[in-house]
Amino acid sequence: MAGEGEAVIVLDSDSSLEEISSASDAVLSGKIRSCSDVISVSTMEQIAPATLLRPNRGSSVKEITLASSQGPNRENLAYEVIHKKRRIEEICICCGSLEIHTQHPLFHGGICAPCTERFLERFFLCDDDGFQADCAICCWGESLVMCDNPACIRCMCTKCLDTLVRRGMAKQVKEINPWICFLCLPLGAHGPASGVLKKKKTWRTGLKHFYDQESNLSIYRPLSPRERTPIKVISLFENISQELQSLGFLGKNMKLKYIHDVTDVVRTHIEEWGPFDFVFGSTPALANSYEHPSAWYMYQYDRILRYSRPIERSRPFFWMFLDNLVLEEETRDAACRFWKTEAVVRMKLQNGTIQNVVHIWSNIPSVNSKYSASSSYMDLFQLAKNICRTRIFSERPATLIKEFFVPLKDYFRTF
Ligand SMILES: [Zn+2]
Ligand SMILES: [Zn+2]
Ligand SMILES: [Zn+2]
Repeated sequence: MAGEGEAVIVLDSDSSLEEISSASDAVLSGKIRSCSDVISVSTMEQIAPATLLRPNRGSSVKEITLASSQGPNRENLAYEVIHKKRRIEEICICCGSLEIHTQHPLFHGGICAPCTERFLERFFLCDDDGFQADCAICCWGESLVMCDNPACIRCMCTKCLDTLVRRGMAKQVKEINPWICFLCLPLGAHGPASGVLKKKKTWRTGLKHFYDQESNLSIYRPLSPRERTPIKVISLFENISQELQSLGFLGKNMKLKYIHDVTDVVRTHIEEWGPFDFVFGSTPALANSYEHPSAWYMYQYDRILRYSRPIERSRPFFWMFLDNLVLEEETRDAACRFWKTEAVVRMKLQNGTIQNVVHIWSNIPSVNSKYSASSSYMDLFQLAKNICRTRIFSERPATLIKEFFVPLKDYFRTF
């Protein structure tokens, strides 16, 4: 524990101390890293499965071994800005490049084209420990420090801390418990002590504008902890309360309506039970027997989704449907047309062998549909047959994609 007042909890002005002090065991256990053997085509296709091992080196530090380590050199960045009076807006704060594409959405400083691309693809990716998978500043980072504010899911890498704040900062931060990240730190505290790392006052709006301008992914502006309300979920055919609870959506911070058979559910029921913030649905697990033809699950989900959609896009509204290789290709194509998005393929691997696969359609930004299911080279039909033949028991599809729920924490209350 670092003394001299460094352990004092300081929060962004829109957070509240109450949220910190109510940090429960769930927060702490959430910080314990487990090895991931799940990859998704959408995001990890460049990375060999063996590199996904993430040993836990401490309570709030995670080490990530990437296939290629970060090349760009930022060593002189702070020197250029502080001593040579170069404007930080003219330098990419992620890699040090002087070929600026635009401005970084969260912090003062430029961002180059390759780093913009990487940021857009990776910023919302999370791990099932409930935290971001990459550094919130550069979206690279081999060693990440996780923010201890329970309302925050951000990580920052040791390189960014050492380069942009000051040399030795990363080591210092690892000893501070609890440590509050530079996005949660109030603006007033971003003085000389934060080096050249200064957050933007309206970074949440900035993030939305960044996605609006630079990608075809439309996101909702993340809400400050004070703006967040308890999430109201409708879960069809499959109950995801366990997954949401493990991420901190607990008790009074979550209302979940689980319906196994929606045959008799009509619009007035949804109006009466709702309004819902998140509509989840899933086909049964592949090796399970199921009561309805497979397409029934997709069409019924679509019907309930239409009843649930808010008329105006004024409040964050999320939806997700999973298919555990149960749907026929024709039904999957219909789903893409209905929901105007490609499916993302998520694979579970063990010792290099595919154990299970789910298709995901969703508007949660972590489900990046840039790489669509159609780009996958797998023979899904053969794979499904193999899974059915070899599996002794089947997993609920939702257990394979839990980390995609994490960005909901930016919009709804947890703990
Ligand atoms: Zn860059
Ligand atoms: Zn970083
Ligand atoms: Zn934070």
